Amino acid sequence: MAVADEAAMLDLGRRIAGQARIGDVIALEGGLGAGKTTLARGILEALGLKGEAPSPSFAIVQPYDVPEVRLPVAHVDLYRLDMPEETEELALGEYLMDSLLIIEWPDRLGDRLWPHALRLTIAMTEDGARRLTADLPDAWTDRWLQI
Ligand code: ADP
Ligand code: MG
Repeated sequence: MAVADEAAMLDLGRRIAGQARIGDVIALEGGLGAGKTTLARGILEALGLKGEAPSPSFAIVQPYDVPEVRLPVAHVDLYRLDMPEETEELALGEYLMDSLLIIEWPDRLGDRLWPHALRLTIAMTEDGARRLTADLPDAWTDRWLQI
């Protein structure tokens, strides 16, 4: 789908938040500046976060808990990791038990990305807008229609 500007990207994130549940993985693919963090900000805002979520590019894992957000979220940015093995010590699987996981640069996980992950790929278009492609696991096919 076409995503015209930053406001539209935030709004798409808000709508995705309406369908998100604990145990979900939302994998955000796309190059530097594609709009991954913007989409994550829309999700977090709709889940109740006040103020703009920081990019977790330095912290790598930025957790949010109730009551700051309606359901616990771990916002992850794996850009700085080189090897799939390095992600093991982040223990992302433990967040999955009680949180929603939003992962920027999920390619760093190699084939360790969970099969039930909703994979969203953001590409820049020539006019400066974005195109988002959704790769839907079974867990999301019905939900994506509500977005
Ligand atoms: P990433 O996390 O993928 O590196 P960011 O979310 O930080 O990217 O966004 C980079 C820039 O792209 C920001 O200035 C943001 O406002 C802009 N942006 C986000 N979504 C869109 C969009 N759909 N169209 C145009 N610009 C966008
Ligand atoms: Mg980012």
